[in-house]
Amino acid sequence: MTRTVAIVAMVAGALAVVSAQGQRQVSLLVTNGIVVTMDGGGRVISPGSVAIDGTDIVAVDTADAIRQQFRGRDTIDAAGQVVMPGLVNTHTHAPMVLYRGLADDLALMDWLNNYMFPAEAKTVSPEFVRAGTRLAALEMIESGTTTFADMYYFEEEIAKETKAAGLRGVLGETVIQFPVADAKTPADALARAETFIKAYQHDPLITPAVAPHAIYTNDGPTLKAARELSKKYNVPTLIHVAETQSEAMTARERGAASVVAYLDGLGFLGPGVVAAHAVWVNDADIAILKSRGVGVSHNPESNMKLASGVAPVRAYLAADVAIGLGTDGAASNNDLDMFEAMRMASMLQKVASSDPTAVSAKTALRMATIGGARALGMERQIGSLERGKHADLIVVSMSAARQTPMYDPISHLVYVTRGDDVRTTIVNGKVLMRNRKVTTLDAAAVLKDANMWAEKVRAAVAR
Ligand SMILES: [Zn+2]
Repeated sequence: MTRTVAIVAMVAGALAVVSAQGQRQVSLLVTNGIVVTMDGGGRVISPGSVAIDGTDIVAVDTADAIRQQFRGRDTIDAAGQVVMPGLVNTHTHAPMVLYRGLADDLALMDWLNNYMFPAEAKTVSPEFVRAGTRLAALEMIESGTTTFADMYYFEEEIAKETKAAGLRGVLGETVIQFPVADAKTPADALARAETFIKAYQHDPLITPAVAPHAIYTNDGPTLKAARELSKKYNVPTLIHVAETQSEAMTARERGAASVVAYLDGLGFLGPGVVAAHAVWVNDADIAILKSRGVGVSHNPESNMKLASGVAPVRAYLAADVAIGLGTDGAASNNDLDMFEAMRMASMLQKVASSDPTAVSAKTALRMATIGGARALGMERQIGSLERGKHADLIVVSMSAARQTPMYDPISHLVYVTRGDDVRTTIVNGKVLMRNRKVTTLDAAAVLKDANMWAEKVRAAVAR
């Protein structure tokens, strides 16, 4: 009896030693993939693996090296598939998925003033926003977006659904001069924004933000007050900047040479500001955006669909402005697929400059990952697969007919891959979708709910 106990103890001890010497146990291993790290050296490791413990990446290395060092409580085999950082959508209005396809083929001001603002006035409510966010979250998880920057109303409701879905969000409460669903005055909106910031200031997934809509929808004092609120809590400021040519007129009426010059004159521009679109800018504006440390969100599909113009992406890149990609709201895109955004970003610059070398696949992929993280001021936490960063990553299938054969995974990610090629989505170390099955949302219920809301939207805009 005594001898048996001793032998068992010896065997257990020997196993523990082997384990301590050989392998560290971690929560999740993603193994044997084509690991596109998007790190500073642009490393692609094949076959490579990523070790994740809790919320963070603990190692990115060859499959052999990871196998020797780590044991996963859970393992995802990514053989033949790409493992890459989750996509960062730097500009959207998530609940607007419920207006998808409601009004197409219009210019921005006609579309906004005659369709979107009236539809919103009649339909936006906390319940609407929550249903819309669930639909957007489902679409984003299914198409490989792991972080999104949002501007809308009832942003605290968007935060609840974003957290429940497991996504990372930079969520900006809208500040706008006229009465809207969640605020009668800009002061109301600022008060709502402040309450929201206080509630989510230290959240692991949600970064609260203030989102003064644009210069043409806010006066100078409101813009300043919104920026001051952001600075007080050290949170981002999200704003539409120089989306259309007509916005420059507003700036000129207020005595400034351009939209960027006007905002700079207000003392508005600085680190933490994310300028969506920034299409109509000159060289001096680009220099100001760079020197103030402003991030830019380029939204090629929305800019093309609304015929807003072509953003000078090559000039931003040459000036080393932090530039990421966005989809904009689904009402002007009409989806949240960041793979499509990459493809369009690349092709739009090529055709606009008559230069096929403009915005290469590698550059587009950078803008959708580490570039977007940098534009949002989050490049130390996300945007690449590196030890110490949060475990936000996706596994992308490369076996479809249209992806065969594959000479270069980066070319394929930008020029042929679609959102529905994403197999697995992981945020903060948690698997949100595995083999196309979303674990944090009831997909059928989300779609049913969205269709129910669409009936109300249809009734609201009927005339
Ligand atoms: Zn927008």
